[in-house]
Amino acid sequence: MWIYPEKYGVIVIGGGHAGCEAAYVSAKKGVRTLLLTMNLDTIAKLSCNPSIGGTAKGHIVREIDAMGGIMGKIADQTSIHYRMLNASKGPAVQAPRAQVDRIAYQFEMKKTLEGIPNLEIKQGTVENILFENNSITGVTTLEGVTYEAESYVVASGTFLNGQIFIGHISFSGGRSGDKPSVGLSESLKKLGLKLGKLKTGTPPRIHKRSIDFSKVEIQPSDENVRFSFDEVKPLLSQTNCFITYTTEQTKEIIQKNLQKSALYSGKITGLGPRYCPSLEDKVVRFSHRDRHQVFLEPEGQNTSEYYLSGMSSSMSFDVQLEFIRSIKGLENAEIMRPAYAIEYDYALSGQIYSSLQTKLIDNLFLAGQINGTTGYEEAAGQGLIAGINAANKALKKEMLYLSRASSYLGVMIDDLISKDLLEPYRMFTSRAEHRLILRQDNALLRLFTYAYKEGLISEERYKEIQSQKELIEKEKQRLETTYKSLLGKKSSLSQILCHKEFDYQKLLQEYPLDVVDHGKEINNQIQIEINYAGYISRQEKEIAKFEYLDKINIPKNFTYDKIIGLRNEAKEKLKKFLPENLSVASRLAGISPADISILMIMLKKNGA
Ligand SMILES: Cc1cc2nc3c(=O)[nH]c(=O)nc-3n(C[C@H](O)[C@H](O)[C@H](O)COP(=O)(O)OP(=O)(O)OC[C@H]3O[C@@H](n4cnc5c(N)ncnc54)[C@H](O)[C@@H]3O)c2cc1C
Repeated sequence: MWIYPEKYGVIVIGGGHAGCEAAYVSAKKGVRTLLLTMNLDTIAKLSCNPSIGGTAKGHIVREIDAMGGIMGKIADQTSIHYRMLNASKGPAVQAPRAQVDRIAYQFEMKKTLEGIPNLEIKQGTVENILFENNSITGVTTLEGVTYEAESYVVASGTFLNGQIFIGHISFSGGRSGDKPSVGLSESLKKLGLKLGKLKTGTPPRIHKRSIDFSKVEIQPSDENVRFSFDEVKPLLSQTNCFITYTTEQTKEIIQKNLQKSALYSGKITGLGPRYCPSLEDKVVRFSHRDRHQVFLEPEGQNTSEYYLSGMSSSMSFDVQLEFIRSIKGLENAEIMRPAYAIEYDYALSGQIYSSLQTKLIDNLFLAGQINGTTGYEEAAGQGLIAGINAANKALKKEMLYLSRASSYLGVMIDDLISKDLLEPYRMFTSRAEHRLILRQDNALLRLFTYAYKEGLISEERYKEIQSQKELIEKEKQRLETTYKSLLGKKSSLSQILCHKEFDYQKLLQEYPLDVVDHGKEINNQIQIEINYAGYISRQEKEIAKFEYLDKINIPKNFTYDKIIGLRNEAKEKLKKFLPENLSVASRLAGISPADISILMIMLKKNGA
């Protein structure tokens, strides 16, 4: 096998959403990086719906952007329809979502990555992983080349042993139109990684000319929604999406054809996402419902394909055509691509640290769908962290750790390292216990110091954000002093706001918040911080209570078996997950506060 003459700092395997983000940040940190992917024409391909963001996912994209990542910028450049979801609800759950032009998104991502110094992109399918003494020494490709690096990120998505299902038809594939990754899956097993099976599905795409637009509702694009905190010039004009509904007839067609579903005929064994069910799942599980919503979303500006959001299915093609034609406005639908389900291998939980480094192999990091998640944003978020840490490994620097209190990124990774996954993991706002603090609007203020420390934003940008932060604090202080003088004795803003005699609206009229106008973004921050000061301060106190557990590290070779008083069930769980600190240990299912107290005593005895 020919060995490529140059050695890299980091090799990223897979040019999906995790891989692009990992390669981008690794190169941005000054590390020579190689992005190795099966097909250069499918870099950043949106395998399912051509949309980025949404509830909690939009928060992740904003955090990626705040950390100096790329997803939000490409989404803004190629958006064709924006929504601010939950706009009428509180700031914690508001989230941006964009319909993007599928092909433009891919091409813009590829073009951007091609222009990044230190980053090389090569087409190649990794078939084998070479390793020695707990360390990977190189990867070999189907094309007959061995590439070597200091550290490696595997971001192979739904491709590991991928098997596609359309009714009774089944064939191997990484996603529709792509080959599966078989050698890599076997190679990961040889390294000692334990793999399981999950599944997901995608809806059909139909031709625009076959939609009766007079029968469907229009959903126009929202104004002033963006992902990136930087000024990004949109490249495309905005367009409409549409909404329609299934009918009683749709339900009947599905019920009488359930045996033609790969899912219900027992052909698929892997578990799928409960919250993103197939249409047949919805009909069976919510049989009392008369109808289900269907979003008609254009796939781009240079295509007539429409994505039918909410209609994912593993039914045979003939049944798909029948049930789609039973939907209002789709009576003459012309299917261009059928819906399908896919089953694939993923790495079982308990095998990675919060840095996304594997516990087994020192210079191997995993990111994206391979860790059991689903979704482009979840994948990109992990890619960002794995890319930063693989680069840090190559540079012999400390790993980056983001706590649950810092970000949705921290929440997601903490969940991945401390929970058994029973289905593909998707982010929700309900997963974040401190969600009033982890808002999409303040992602930059929460994360810019990490981004700066990791060399992902410039000093100039750092100072600019720092001064914005100071301005907000100063303005909060000014308002506090003003209000305090009005109410007398109360000492903090949260106490003032919680005071029973306090009439906030009246006070606002007398002392309007915009007395000093700092611009829309900053005024908005001040307004939210003040409106929710009581709740925010309560969440801050809770965070402080747990923060000290984060700092009590558990050594990698810690022996749980010898600890007297620790229950056997707790020992088994701790040995399986090998938590890196007491905070992670405290969140493992089945670990009690008493177990944590015993552990704390033992760790303190050992000098922790
Ligand atoms: C049918 C289907 C339905 C889906 N439905 C949903 C949904 O409803 N909701 C949702 O949020 N998400 C859905 N997804 C998931 C979404 O596509 C993924 O979560 C996301 O793309 C994962 O990103 P990733 O970077 O981990 O992997 P991917 O985007 O899958 O990218 C993997 C990359 O790795 C490359 N690769 C694989 N093996 C090798 C190898 N051996 N050598 C070199 N390169 C390799 C591939 O070519 C590809 O570029 C669906 C995916 C599919 C396929």
